[in-house]
Amino acid sequence: MAHHTQDKYEEIRDAVRSLCAEYPDEYFRKVDEQRVYPEAFVDALTKAGWMAALIPQEYGGSGLGLTEASVIMEEVNRAGGNSGACHGQMYNMNTLLRHGSKAQKDYYLPKIASGEWRLQSMGVTEPTTGTDTTKIKTTAVKKGDRYVINGQKVWISRIQHSDFMILLARTTPLADVKKKSEGLSIFMVDLRQAEKSGMTVRPILNMVNHETNELFFENLEIPAENLIGEEGQGFKYILDGLNAERTLIAAECIGDGYWFIDRVSKYVKDRIVFGRPIGQNQGVQFPIAEAYIEVEAASLMRWKACELFDAHQPCGAQANMAKYLAAKASWEAANACIQFHGGFGFACEYDVERKFRETRLYQVAPISTNLILSYVAEHILGLPRSF
Ligand SMILES: Cc1cc2nc3c(=O)[nH]c(=O)nc-3n(C[C@H](O)[C@H](O)[C@H](O)COP(=O)(O)OP(=O)(O)OC[C@H]3O[C@@H](n4cnc5c(N)ncnc54)[C@H](O)[C@@H]3O)c2cc1C
Repeated sequence: MAHHTQDKYEEIRDAVRSLCAEYPDEYFRKVDEQRVYPEAFVDALTKAGWMAALIPQEYGGSGLGLTEASVIMEEVNRAGGNSGACHGQMYNMNTLLRHGSKAQKDYYLPKIASGEWRLQSMGVTEPTTGTDTTKIKTTAVKKGDRYVINGQKVWISRIQHSDFMILLARTTPLADVKKKSEGLSIFMVDLRQAEKSGMTVRPILNMVNHETNELFFENLEIPAENLIGEEGQGFKYILDGLNAERTLIAAECIGDGYWFIDRVSKYVKDRIVFGRPIGQNQGVQFPIAEAYIEVEAASLMRWKACELFDAHQPCGAQANMAKYLAAKASWEAANACIQFHGGFGFACEYDVERKFRETRLYQVAPISTNLILSYVAEHILGLPRSF
């Protein structure tokens, strides 16, 4: 589209766009209506190699960075789709690449690269502790060559469409650690195996077509070799995954933002009321222009977060700020889009209400805007800790 600046990722953009063109609005509308997983679309992305973008070439992937991954996810959302169905593999991959052992990489990566296995799930959130992650109650206790897992998780997505999950659990009780972020560990969980031996999955019906679940662990035994990195250091490792997740979701919101702006710009040029296009009124133009400015600005922060992440530099501030800006910008674009479609914005066949619901999620998940503000206030500005 003419108003979008060209960048050095045009080749990736074109390739993802042409794949997405085979899965038009009607496809995602139907998938949403039927509350099913966009299996054919995720398969096509996998077969085309996009889901293995981050896997190094020696393991069968393309060895790209988070920057390129963000472009892939952005294009999916910009085409009208929803990366929420498959972004897990992109952010989980970094955790495995950066902290997994050689043996783990040799075991998992080739099969994930070929598409035989999916690593789409990450289990962090718990019902009784919410955003207060270091207080999680799920425990992993070592017994010989196994860890025994007990506890509960909530909102764990794509379990039914993934083969593996990266799980965060406490290995040393909170009372026995100096810092509350110590004593947590991360594990690879073979989901199909786990379902047969101690993990119960209860799907949560929700506002968007996002396959997500409650998980209950009752003496689930997993091999000790499934521990990723060192025991007790898991919180540090999972932060890499969370920063990648926030940055990718920023990119998805940017894709959504452009989608809303393109749709509404076209609509207000064509829709004639009071004898002229509604888009001739400044009351209609300005919110759209404002949303566009904010999406573009959010995108700059996304590039910054990606650049730092790919250079293995601290990027918590930028990843959080990119997610904050992008989620806000896409939500404003969504509001302008639904508003200026008038009644038609509410008709499913325009896809606006679907995208509106989908982009709303990102004010709350994977981290709420309030928690980002609190992070910036405390960690960047040095204001007193409020909780
Ligand atoms: C569709 C969906 C998919 C998800 N997928 C996953 C997944 O795959 N894996 C996973 O681990 N998690 C997942 N989540 C969980 C998600 O990350 C959490 O819902 C989110 O982090 C918010 O946590 P919470 O729901 O416990 O909210 P709470 O922590 O209970 O917070 C509720 C609200 O209170 C406010 N709040 C809380 N504390 C403060 C404070 N100190 N100061 C100011 N305001 C505050 C915020 O506005 C926040 O939105 C998913 C959630 C959804 C809805």
